[in-house]
Amino acid sequence: VSDYDAVVLGAGAAGLMCAAVAGQRGRRVLLLDHADAVGKKILISGGGRCNFTNIHTSPATYISANPHFAKSALARYTPADFIALVDRHGIAWHEKTLGQLFCDGSAKQIVAMLLEEAAKGHVDIRCGQTVNQIDHSDNMFRGTFGNFHFTAPNLVIATGGPSIPKMGATGFAYDLARRFGLKVVEPRPALVPLTLGGDDVLFRDLSGVATPVEARAGKAAFREAALFTHKGLSGPAILQISSYWRHGEPVTIDFLPDAAPGWLVEAKRARPRATLASALPLPDRLAQTLADRLGLAGELGAQTDRKLAEAEARLARWLFHPNGTEGFAKAEVTVGGISTAGLSSQTMMVKTVPNLYAIGEAVDVTGWLGGYNFQWAWASGYAAGQVI
Ligand code: FAD
Repeated sequence: VSDYDAVVLGAGAAGLMCAAVAGQRGRRVLLLDHADAVGKKILISGGGRCNFTNIHTSPATYISANPHFAKSALARYTPADFIALVDRHGIAWHEKTLGQLFCDGSAKQIVAMLLEEAAKGHVDIRCGQTVNQIDHSDNMFRGTFGNFHFTAPNLVIATGGPSIPKMGATGFAYDLARRFGLKVVEPRPALVPLTLGGDDVLFRDLSGVATPVEARAGKAAFREAALFTHKGLSGPAILQISSYWRHGEPVTIDFLPDAAPGWLVEAKRARPRATLASALPLPDRLAQTLADRLGLAGELGAQTDRKLAEAEARLARWLFHPNGTEGFAKAEVTVGGISTAGLSSQTMMVKTVPNLYAIGEAVDVTGWLGGYNFQWAWASGYAAGQVI
């Protein structure tokens, strides 16, 4: 006889949701975390206001080796479901931009809400010890948490990805999954600033300059702000594209995504005495750097139309060659993770190990910037919590 029906490892967004849902269905749930408190990433998320979902959530806003995997869970627990929960708890929120919903007050309210939901389900939450020695025999999972021994017929891996180790993030989920025979899709830092070297280093002098762009890597494209930093490139457009970027590939920036074709030749006709730098509707320092790199000093009137057309084309397809990212230390999430090939998309259960589940960021499903990652944590946690 075991003391619990289920043990959930990791009291982050996914683990809290899963434990609360299972607990409210009458399951006896133990929720464990090695950090000294639950939901630490929720607390720092969205600049302390937690961008808890995105109303434009769809499978297309997620990256996974299997783009269909997330569909089922996302369809059964939607942004509207989470908004209803937030509303029941009287938490005020607003849409900031692009469908991103934030608390008016503080991310603490989201953690408090999840703790209340867990308490309603009589979830036994324990923090601040190390989980080790997980064994599986006779359809029971056994392990220790510090000196505490636990057994349960169900085990949920919800320990997240390795982004921001300073916050307690580890690769524990991958190690455990591999021990149970699951494959792990190569984890890479995502939603992370890119670093510039080589010919691009002089752009680092623009540190602090931001401008709306369209950023592209491979087939992905995002129209948002880019920000130059003292190490390279950041801002929402770059963070988004970083999740798709691979080492050795360029990132293409359209500095003037709204400009009409032929605008620069038009500018020459209208203001022949202007320089390129002054004609560029961009922040001054950026305009000057781009004009210098294009080798177009002097007045527009002195340039041939052909040269200006070439300059226009380069401004629309400026190639940066990032030499890396700022790594897991600065990455908001991890792309890759426990391969979905080994999981049921309905329940998140491991196909080859009955009653073992993996949810949240530990799984190879990664959302865009803007509340999509929490929505995956809620939805996958709910899917498992419903069936345990
Ligand atoms: P986590 O929330 O990371 O929870 C995993 C838990 O497991 C942690 O509590 C950890 O302590 C515990 N754990 C880890 N290893 C072990 C171990 N070995 N033993 C025991 N416990 C362990 N997403 C959004 O959608 N909106 C945002 O506004 C947003 N802002 C973010 C801001 C920052 C700075 C960061 C880093 C991330 C942000 N994210 C945001 C991403 C989001 O936080 C994650 O996608 C989400 O927290 C994943 O939920 P999870 O439960 O899978 O993992």
